[in-house]
Amino acid sequence: MAEKIFPIAQDKLEEIIKEYPTPFHIYDEAAIRKNLRRLFKAFDWVPGFREHYAVKAAPNPYLLEIIREEGGGADCSSLPELNLADMAGIKGEKIMLTSNDTPADEFQRAIELGAIINLDDISHIEYLEKNAGFPACLSFRYNPGDAVKGNAIIGNPTEAKYGLTHDQLIHAYRIAKDKGVKRFGLHTMVISNELEEQSFINTARLMFNTAVEIKEKLGIKLEFVNLGGGVGIPYRPEQEAVNLENVSAGIKKAYEEIIIPAGLDGLSIAMELGRSITGPYGYLVTTAIHEKQTYKNYIGLDACMANLMRPALYGAYHHIVVVGKENAPLDHTYDVTGSLCENNDKFAIDRQLPKIDMGDRIIIFDAGAHGHAMGFNYNAKLRSAELLLCEDGSVKMIRRAETQDDYFATLHFDGSKF
Ligand SMILES: *Cc1c(COP(=O)(O)O)cnc(C)c1O
Repeated sequence: MAEKIFPIAQDKLEEIIKEYPTPFHIYDEAAIRKNLRRLFKAFDWVPGFREHYAVKAAPNPYLLEIIREEGGGADCSSLPELNLADMAGIKGEKIMLTSNDTPADEFQRAIELGAIINLDDISHIEYLEKNAGFPACLSFRYNPGDAVKGNAIIGNPTEAKYGLTHDQLIHAYRIAKDKGVKRFGLHTMVISNELEEQSFINTARLMFNTAVEIKEKLGIKLEFVNLGGGVGIPYRPEQEAVNLENVSAGIKKAYEEIIIPAGLDGLSIAMELGRSITGPYGYLVTTAIHEKQTYKNYIGLDACMANLMRPALYGAYHHIVVVGKENAPLDHTYDVTGSLCENNDKFAIDRQLPKIDMGDRIIIFDAGAHGHAMGFNYNAKLRSAELLLCEDGSVKMIRRAETQDDYFATLHFDGSKF
């Protein structure tokens, strides 16, 4: 069972709302720090264990700074993401560029920053050489094809646009080595939002075996294998969180069986977790503003899918709590909606909740990754603010809400009629 408890008391929340009107996202700094410490502790047996936080999950430099302070780095996949990492003080090889269909300026910026570059295709070797030159440490993204079965979010590897096939991978290391690259890593990302511990251990085994093969065939001793992100979170209260200590123990066993006998000891392990680092520690705070009874009962919030898209996009479950009614009976059935002119703009469908009154504060859980970040402006909806619940209990705004002027800003170019 995953506990779903909002970390802010009702009276304090009302104080916060006086200063920052709903809707907003709020992140729990203490919980994020605690979570990162647990991750690093679980993998403390790994030589130089690295976590490159997937910036796309919550691209806010205040959050990235917290992650850096706890020892994390950044996984970037666009030019602004590289700059966000830099802004947050994440430097050099703490940054990994894992992009696909990558434009030249991203490669160039990654080189300037001294980042590790993780190539998505064999053809990118030449493109990188021509447009940016090689980084000190180069990695390739492995797509194992039929060797792995994916889940619903990420799909099967054979259908995925990412990565190199097995044979291309071997060939790619050879080419890069011949071109003078000296330091290498290996990357894969084949699971997403996965709660099954064994699947991470299986991925590690596959990667360790591949590292051994690369050593045997090419004489290359990889510096790291990057197992990607994809650790899921218990969005539903009845789900269990992934036990990182169990995952670590399983990976350690595989390391001892495969890596040590092959003489690859010293091999580091990297991850690019996004969701599991910040996801459970971010909340979308909203207010119920309308109730409507037609063929169903609807509660309309002041937020919409521009603030949190996952329910509309994937039919994802996000837990909902009505503040002050945590212990009230769940004796009403509602569709909880936003205001976008799309019928899938619903945070919940047929959800059992306590009776909701207008003005009730409605908390939507697990919005701390792929939440605000996925926001968009369709229907001229403006994105909300992001707040940080600091370790000392104070609240800091870490991104203001968008204004209409922000929305119109791209119309106000030279010579514009408007
Ligand atoms: C999205 C992504 C991640 C992070 O995934 P999570 O599910 O948030 O852990 C990591 N690596 C790559 C390459 C990604 O595209």
